[in-house]
Amino acid sequence: MIGVGDMVLLEPLSEDSFIANLKNRFEHNEIYTYIGSVVISMNPYRSLPIFTPEKVEEYRNRNFYELSPHIYALADEAYRSLRDQDKDQCILITGESGAGKTEASKLVMSYVAAVCGKGQEVNKVKEQLLQSNPVLEAFGNAKTVRNDNSSRFGKYMDIEFDFKGDPLGGVISNYLLEKSRVVKQPRGERNFHVFYQLLSGASDDTLKKLKLDRDFSKYNYLSLDSAAVNGLDDAANFRTVRNAMQIVGFMEDEVQSVLELVAAVLKLGNIEFKPDSRSNGGDESRIKDKNDLKEMCELLGIEQSVLERAFSYRTVEAKLEKVSTTLNVAQAQAKTRHKVMGVLDIYGFEIFEDNSFEQFIINYCNEKLQQIFIELTLREEQEEYIREGIEWTNIEYFNNAIICDLIENHQNGILAMLDEECLRPGTVTDETFLDKLNTICAEHQHFESRLSKNSKFLTDHSLPHSCFRIQHYAGKVLYRVEGFVDKNNDLLYRDLSQAMYKATQSLIKQLFPEGNPAKVNLKRPPTAGSQFKASVGTLMRNLQTKNPNYIRCIKPNDKKASHIFTESLVCHQVRYLGLMENVRVRRAGYAFRQAYEPCLERYKMLCKRTWPHWRGPAREGVEVLMADLQVPTDEFAYGRSKIFIRNPRTLFFLEERRRQ
Ligand code: ATP
Ligand code: MG
Repeated sequence: MIGVGDMVLLEPLSEDSFIANLKNRFEHNEIYTYIGSVVISMNPYRSLPIFTPEKVEEYRNRNFYELSPHIYALADEAYRSLRDQDKDQCILITGESGAGKTEASKLVMSYVAAVCGKGQEVNKVKEQLLQSNPVLEAFGNAKTVRNDNSSRFGKYMDIEFDFKGDPLGGVISNYLLEKSRVVKQPRGERNFHVFYQLLSGASDDTLKKLKLDRDFSKYNYLSLDSAAVNGLDDAANFRTVRNAMQIVGFMEDEVQSVLELVAAVLKLGNIEFKPDSRSNGGDESRIKDKNDLKEMCELLGIEQSVLERAFSYRTVEAKLEKVSTTLNVAQAQAKTRHKVMGVLDIYGFEIFEDNSFEQFIINYCNEKLQQIFIELTLREEQEEYIREGIEWTNIEYFNNAIICDLIENHQNGILAMLDEECLRPGTVTDETFLDKLNTICAEHQHFESRLSKNSKFLTDHSLPHSCFRIQHYAGKVLYRVEGFVDKNNDLLYRDLSQAMYKATQSLIKQLFPEGNPAKVNLKRPPTAGSQFKASVGTLMRNLQTKNPNYIRCIKPNDKKASHIFTESLVCHQVRYLGLMENVRVRRAGYAFRQAYEPCLERYKMLCKRTWPHWRGPAREGVEVLMADLQVPTDEFAYGRSKIFIRNPRTLFFLEERRRQ
């Protein structure tokens, strides 16, 4: 074993020793390390020979601590307890961009696919589950400065199984797709993969039908300087994606509609507006060159004059932002109760120099995840203690409920105040929102400070202009309010949705149901913030009913390079993933537990009466052993099936004796 495989057993425990242990293991290709049942995963940035079918066999049906730490051990444990004990599972994968979350989610899925049922029907379902990934990635991933294949949305997938543990299908939810990327990409980044894939990989004939040119530079939405990405073969990926769409269950004409939509978006980006010289001082605009508009309308079956009117009636900004290319993969609907394994691959905590509405929302989501992490870890501990008949010892921990409340309280939480501001008549700006926030949160803070010393909304005069700061569980984050109001409003003008609804192409019509004149709804649609809050709420309720399994991903360097371990960077992540806290909670009660059989097997050599054979129940053997070794009795407790050891030092003592 390189270093210590389980951080719970690290001695002495400090941030330094924690990171040194990760480093030592990483340098020896041990990318996985446990904190109890939590798996820390370091991104190796190269392919390691540890994901082979032989490895799958090795980890199959083995106990969690029997072999060296591996993501397969977690997947196996989760799958078996789903299948054999009928406990729904969720796999929660967090970490920053490029840390390896999506790869980890795919490893879990492929492991489960490898070990669960067989047969023609089952294999088809497995294929569909696995092939949903390339489709989702084409439409939702892009090259960013941090990751060449960065997921620009959060993903939660419930995989459903029948009573035998054979897969039946999956239900996928997407969160907060970064739609604005369609229109504009930061320097050095690309648009969503699908655009490049289509132009590089489609046949001449297909492109002609879609009225597209192979040349990226013909399209405003495809930035020029970063079109090619090392190691990414757009053309080959296009074939993979088309094939995957077919396997997932798209009909040929549906694939065609989707591609038409992608083409229409590219056309849309080329439509340029100029101020209408006939309008007297208003903000009306006209379309410069109508060819792209014409082709776009032909693709979607919209009458040109209808769309033109919808575009030109509003200001120029109204025209583009709201086009999204989300894709719903066919969903399996559960009627009877199925066993469910949920896999969550969602953006980790973000602290940038400039933090905007998106970071605010993402960090809110992470606060909620941290909250259920604490809740579920403690609950699980408690349940195990009860199951084993061990007295419950209270564990002290930092409860971040106060931060969640600051953000989501429906009366005076930040999101509620933002909504209130967005709906208020009169002049509303980011600044008026900030003023309100400062006034109310300052009062709130005052109120809170009577309850507890640590308010999480931090105001002081050193803050830069237009900013507020929150003390998250993972650290202080400074948010700039610019754009909060607009992004929260997320309005699509009715003229546009109505124009889209008139399309003869049925897919696009379905995408704009609010444009149906028969269903004119004068109530404004919910804001982006409240929609997200609601979907996070649903997600949390869903996760709460399941048994959690955690994978914490860490990025070793910011060069996308193998073999480099940048300590400061890792340290930063260890902090905001709350890993030290995690070890502390884990060690607070009984740090270590082991079933009697393997425990006796391992340590029976330390005692004359149990060596070489103990005839009798394993538990009695362990009792004899502990008495013989004179381990202090308050150091351990006998559960129904396991021995619980309080202090890791006791375990070190046993291990040391074994080595002597
Ligand atoms: P984002 O939040 O941007 O979506 P992520 O955490 O999902 O990031 P991934 O896309 O999973 O990150 O990983 C980034 C890259 O790191 C992968 O494209 C791959 O090159 C490499 N990588 C991640 N995990 C592994 C692994 N287990 N083995 C080999 N390479 C890996
Ligand atoms: Mg990802």
